[in-house]
Order: sequence, then C-alpha cells, then structure tokens
Amino acid sequence: MEHTMEPIQEQLLEAAKKAAEECSYSPYSQYRVGAAVYANGQIYHGANVENASSNLGICAERVALSHAKMHGVQHIDGIAIFCLDALRDETGRPLVGYTMPCGGCLQWIAELAPDAWVVTNGLGRAVRIADLLPIPFKLLDPSFPVR
Ligand SMILES: [Zn+2]
Repeated sequence: MEHTMEPIQEQLLEAAKKAAEECSYSPYSQYRVGAAVYANGQIYHGANVENASSNLGICAERVALSHAKMHGVQHIDGIAIFCLDALRDETGRPLVGYTMPCGGCLQWIAELAPDAWVVTNGLGRAVRIADLLPIPFKLLDPSFPVR
C-alpha cells in the first residue's frame, strides 16, 4: 500500500495510538481506540469509554472532538483514529485490517470538522471527511428548533 501521509499526520496517528494505550476504557469489547484532533497547532486526544449498558459508550473520535470544542477550537485541521485491536486478534489472526470511524462519528466529524483530513492505522493515507460521508445530515437553519 502506498503511504502518503504528511509528518503531522504521522505524529497525530502516534498521539491517537498513545491515547488508545493509556486512556481507553474498554473492559467489555477489549477494543482499545484512541483519537487525536489537530487544531491551531495543538493536539486534543480522546479514547473510547464503554459502559455496562453498552449503548451508552462513546467512541474515541467523539471524545477527542469534544475535548477540542471544550477548549474553544473553531477550525479543525485533521483527526487521527487508532485502534490497537483492529489489525489482529490475540492469536494474531487478521481482523478488519484498518480502522474507520463509525457512521455516528462520521456525522460528528462532518459537522465539527468539515474540512478535516482523516488518518487511521492501517489505511496508510489521508482521506477527507467529504469522501467518507459525502452527504451528511445537515439542518438548513442551524438555529432550528431554537428561534
Ligand atoms: Zn464512532
């Protein structure tokens, strides 16, 4: 596979890997995911956080995007997602081969980081969110329903 990532994209992917290693709370799935958002020269990391009520868990991408927004970030340059457990299982058997955001996270990225590049482990190149979710859900009037 051709590798065409910029140095900052490689660096952000390393930050996402570190977040997965150090911050993931995934006792149920054992699926450790980290994410890192790059904005204004800063890195905002996140990791998946699960819950015994499984649908209440949150993905690493949404934690990292929330982290950036909580620090007042307006424009996001890129986001990296790294799943430590996506490539091989405990016996070394290959799984999906690369990490991709789920549909819900694609919607979050499309709204909060519409110009962002996206890098993941195993993909080997940067893609644009518009390529992954070309027609996101969007309200024509962003103030709806608050008028
Ligand atoms: Zn997700």
